[in-house]
Amino acid sequence: MSDPALYPCFLGPYGENDTLLEKLVVEFLRDHVYWRRNFHPEDPPAIPTHAAQAPEFKAFEARLRRELHSLSAALKRSVPFHSPRYLGHMVSDLLLPGLVAQILTLPYNPNNVTEEVATVTIDLELKAGLQLARMLGYPSDPAAPDCAFGHLTSGGTLANYQSLRLALALKAWPVALRAAGVPGLLVGDDDWQAFNLGPDAATELVQQFDAWLAGLSPHDARQWRERVNAERIETLGLNGFFARHPELKPPIVLAPVTAHYSWSKGLKLIGLGRNALRLVPEAGMRIDPGALESMLEEALAQRQSVLMTVGVLGSTEFGTIDPIDGLVAARKRMHARGLGYSVHVDAAWGGYLATLFREPDGSARSRPDMRADYVEFPSPAVYAAFAALGQTDSVTIDPHKLGYIAFGVGAFVCRDNRAIALLDESADYVFRTAASNDYFHRYRALGRYLPEGSKPGAAVAAVYVTHQVLPLDYQHFGLLQRQTIRSAEAFLAELKRFAAAQAPRVRVVVPYAPDSNLVCMAMNPVGNRDVATMNRFMRGLYDHLRADPGTPLQAREFFASMTTLHPDTLGSEDTARVLAELDLDPATLNADDPDADRLVILRHTLMNPYLIDRENGISYLELYFEYLARLTQPDR
Ligand SMILES: *Cc1c(COP(=O)(O)O)cnc(C)c1O
Repeated sequence: MSDPALYPCFLGPYGENDTLLEKLVVEFLRDHVYWRRNFHPEDPPAIPTHAAQAPEFKAFEARLRRELHSLSAALKRSVPFHSPRYLGHMVSDLLLPGLVAQILTLPYNPNNVTEEVATVTIDLELKAGLQLARMLGYPSDPAAPDCAFGHLTSGGTLANYQSLRLALALKAWPVALRAAGVPGLLVGDDDWQAFNLGPDAATELVQQFDAWLAGLSPHDARQWRERVNAERIETLGLNGFFARHPELKPPIVLAPVTAHYSWSKGLKLIGLGRNALRLVPEAGMRIDPGALESMLEEALAQRQSVLMTVGVLGSTEFGTIDPIDGLVAARKRMHARGLGYSVHVDAAWGGYLATLFREPDGSARSRPDMRADYVEFPSPAVYAAFAALGQTDSVTIDPHKLGYIAFGVGAFVCRDNRAIALLDESADYVFRTAASNDYFHRYRALGRYLPEGSKPGAAVAAVYVTHQVLPLDYQHFGLLQRQTIRSAEAFLAELKRFAAAQAPRVRVVVPYAPDSNLVCMAMNPVGNRDVATMNRFMRGLYDHLRADPGTPLQAREFFASMTTLHPDTLGSEDTARVLAELDLDPATLNADDPDADRLVILRHTLMNPYLIDRENGISYLELYFEYLARLTQPDR
């Protein structure tokens, strides 16, 4: 089932492509050395040619070797992410293009904080942002004034934080313009209106203010800039800003109960506090649009402003996909009624699945065309969610998850690049968009717009080269994503066979239909009705499936991960359903007992492209369920 097109993509479970990797690494290491020598070939070598014979040199090399050998030996205890026996967390083998590009770039050591120390890789970062924008359906022509803007971060956590910073800047910007008394701009009749203009109108106001300043004398322009800056939330801080505008309350963020904990971290960091995070109930682990709607209604009724609604495209624990189309529709309705806010998509996990929905020419792939490739995927709801991505305000995507890039790279993409001017750290330069019409020129001091400062250009090279070798459409990068979905569908089929075979002894339940490539599973021995007993049984299984530094690697047959279903997350209806399917007594679910306040389940990430090994006729998925069957034998 794995596609021959995927054979050259990775080093491989057995290191099959070692020659290719070694050839490339050596070739480009030599290339780097020639580059050094050709900078000023007239400079003599600073390290003498006989240096390697000196005792100090030899002693140094000996120490270095000893340490490297012990590191290399210790690393043999690492978790074998590359293996098709690894179904645990959101990680798999590394794509060769990214790995080689990163190794190649490391000795040049570019720092993508600004072009002065990253003459090449800043442009690559902006281009990688545009590649992602195109995949999402955002405007991606840098010549267009409203082109999207994307940059890389250390991970999804920082990208989510960047979305909060941008949404807050956009929300407070019209209020600052009003307070400063800038004439001739439509900033609403009062602070409430100004605070609720929504991100599009706020972005428009960045342009209009800029254009207005351009018509003033340099002296007047500077004075107006200073007056407006003095009113900005970035200057005043939350306390100062809301003290000046007593009719406004600090805004809240509506995110699903499945939201990653980076949202709580982000709200603490931005100073709004965890209480500002309001969790929207779910149905089947996807945002319940009705519940979202009533929370928004309540906010409007109480004049409680909303910073953003967050939809999750591939929840971390369950892989479920929120109805992004529903979030977009709700925003439109609420905006018409005077409640303006941003819509952000946390697609840290599922972002790259958007390649499946993209034709090579950039147009959307139709659902009937896609359906031919799968058993169930994509459901109409999932298709509608992906189709709506282009109408959201910003998206988080993790290249170090489904992008198969080494850890240390997330991405933030916003739909309209003009908004990002509000994040510029050097206030003097905030309004200088007119001065640089060239997109790539405008963002060369990248660090000014980002939460981070110095950042690795080598990681940027990895992402860019990967997207070039495997363009972000269904025929290229999508082949890899398709494999993950097919593996999940095959996993589900095996799971059903396993469930039928186990029926006399163990109940096997999939708590909610998977939307993509993550499948969870609960098991309860037949006859048991007690939650704590089932949890003990599941933890016992998991003990055989987890990475444990004390257990030799080869003693492990398979790796899976574990998560829990909390009744608060599931909601009462789904909790009742899952308990019934497992034949558990609801009375044994006990909020005061940490062993019985939730259900322990197994979680499987189907990322490895070689789970079904066509070459050797092996299905690791079949082997996994055979292993589980052995583990659940009463007399094993
Ligand atoms: C992984 C993940 C994050 C956090 O990303 P990091 O790269 O670990 O910082 C945020 N949201 C979701 C949905 C995720 O899956």
